[in-house]
Amino acid sequence: MTHDNRNTDLPDPRPHDSVAGRTVDTFDDIRVLRYDVPGFDTLPLPQKKLIYYLAEAALCGRDILYDQNCRYNLAVRRTLEAIYRAGTDNPQEEEWLSFEKYLKKVWFANGVHHHYSGDKFVPEFSEAWFNARLAALPDEALPLDRGSRTEVSAVVQRVIFDPAFCAVRECRSVGEDLLTASAMNYYEGVTQAEAEAFYARMTDAGDPEPVSVGLNSRLVKQADGRLEERVWKIGGLYSPALERIVGWLERAAAAASPAQREVIETLIDFYRTGDLKTYDRFSIRWVQDTESPVDFVNGFTETYGDPLGYKASWEALVDFRDDEATRRTEAISSQAQWFEDHSPIQEQYKKKSVCGVSAKVINAAMLGGDNYPATPIGINLPNADWIRKEYGSKSVTIQNITHAYAENAKGNGFLEEFILRAEDRDRIARYGTLADNLHTDLHECLGHGSGQLAPGVRGDELKQYGSVLEEARADLFGLYYAADPKMIELGLVPDGEAARAEYTSYISNGLFTQLARIAPGKQIEQAHMRNRQLIGRWTYELGAADRVIERITEGGKTYFVVNDFDALRTLFGRMLREVQRIKSEGDFAAGRDLVERYGIRINPALHAEVLERYARLGIRPYAGFVNPTYTPVTDASGEIIDVRCTTDESYTGQMLAYSDRYSFLPTDNNR
Ligand code: ZN
Repeated sequence: MTHDNRNTDLPDPRPHDSVAGRTVDTFDDIRVLRYDVPGFDTLPLPQKKLIYYLAEAALCGRDILYDQNCRYNLAVRRTLEAIYRAGTDNPQEEEWLSFEKYLKKVWFANGVHHHYSGDKFVPEFSEAWFNARLAALPDEALPLDRGSRTEVSAVVQRVIFDPAFCAVRECRSVGEDLLTASAMNYYEGVTQAEAEAFYARMTDAGDPEPVSVGLNSRLVKQADGRLEERVWKIGGLYSPALERIVGWLERAAAAASPAQREVIETLIDFYRTGDLKTYDRFSIRWVQDTESPVDFVNGFTETYGDPLGYKASWEALVDFRDDEATRRTEAISSQAQWFEDHSPIQEQYKKKSVCGVSAKVINAAMLGGDNYPATPIGINLPNADWIRKEYGSKSVTIQNITHAYAENAKGNGFLEEFILRAEDRDRIARYGTLADNLHTDLHECLGHGSGQLAPGVRGDELKQYGSVLEEARADLFGLYYAADPKMIELGLVPDGEAARAEYTSYISNGLFTQLARIAPGKQIEQAHMRNRQLIGRWTYELGAADRVIERITEGGKTYFVVNDFDALRTLFGRMLREVQRIKSEGDFAAGRDLVERYGIRINPALHAEVLERYARLGIRPYAGFVNPTYTPVTDASGEIIDVRCTTDESYTGQMLAYSDRYSFLPTDNNR
């Protein structure tokens, strides 16, 4: 599971001392920022080498994600890049600028659909202009490896200019066939009912160690009507990219400690065989390796992109531990059983013995696949419920990314605009970052790992509502405990003010300011956003009689204010109890009703207001990052004697360089 940023618009009070949070590029609703890699230069050489090898492995899978997001993404990106590289005599021409903006959006989203909402981008250049540019290119410049010039041009034009074609990446609307209405490429010619029946047959409800069925394959309907899984493995689908990844992982394995070498070699074995039992073996070894200072995620990991929640997008992260900050999360994770025992959930759904919750604060060294350029600020893995229960989970908070967000928010005027009361603004300015980090720690280290299922419940009963409710459960856990006296006792916060800062900004964001991320006329699609509105609206309604949360209009502006922090905490506890019950019992109907009632629909007047106020402040609601560059320094014999980390690439420069260096897949992977 990942945790994305809630309150990215809050400033960090610490002094600004590096490139962290500098804006590299802006376009549409996006800011592209830099992150720095503090401490890299002083790492011992073996760790630097390991990071370098893992970083290359993290970049080699880039095209896999493009293809997973939509079959035509690689054809579109490569065609757009060909036009872009051919250049223009008139770089200020309006259509050229619109074209450049569109290309930057495609890079950011790893495809033609918005990275967050999943809606297809609308071009602001004309089809005639585009066709003239396309016609001017020679065949050699175009991606014609799997189709003729006529075929490729036709499909690229249709994807860009026909609004009804591949309209949404993943459909989540009740009543529609979630697969045939989606443009994602996890299924081909398969209906929702067929896919559900296919995986129901593969699922053994009595298996105490069930593999994650369907995780690493595309499900395809054959000409004769049979369904077949095309597995993503060496020798299978995506083989050319996976071979490169494995090549770098082999070097990483040779440079790693014996324990970590075993982890990496098991992953290599999984990429070679595609065997999901091997994947579970890898996950167990990975979660048990809590000592290695350098760590990584590399693989088919999160299932947010599949409306049915089987198929995992490819993602990567390379990181190393921040020892000082890790003391914060260790203080929490060492008390995991205490938190479980004192949780407001029903006794039978508490874990009797919480095992192996390891938590650390890390600095990201490289982002790849579904973590790039937009990235989570926390990650908790593995996702398989039985492994989490038997072996625990590893939870990370990505410190240099949260720091970059906070630096970038300095002086943006957000607090003055959206937080009504001066005492709330002061509190957020003083405690906001601390409280936000602490909430992320609680969410990741303990929230996702807490609770247990009733006997016979598998964990996938909540279907398309599962992700939202799981994020709600972890967030509620964090919100409930953020205000617990235990936080002060553990020395994590100086007093109760930090939780108040968190409550104020969480509620204002969930009910109101996060809507700045949604295009006019749309509803909420993304799981984390649905979860925040679900929590905001539900508490607002539950506490309405006592005005726990109050909507205030002043000077024509709307504000959401928390009046009673203690009562709000009690409400969070009640909600946590109910969401845990829904998960533990697999109560689909109750889960669906909650999400549909509170999580999805937007109040149009509030929406218009927040968009207008954001626009006036000039804040772009989404952010992502350019990666640093690692350059090995070799001696005369070719041996690596140092690795240099630089942070000076432009956004466009990095994207074009990645397309040059890491384009390993055919343009169309469905034929
Ligand atoms: Zn989460």
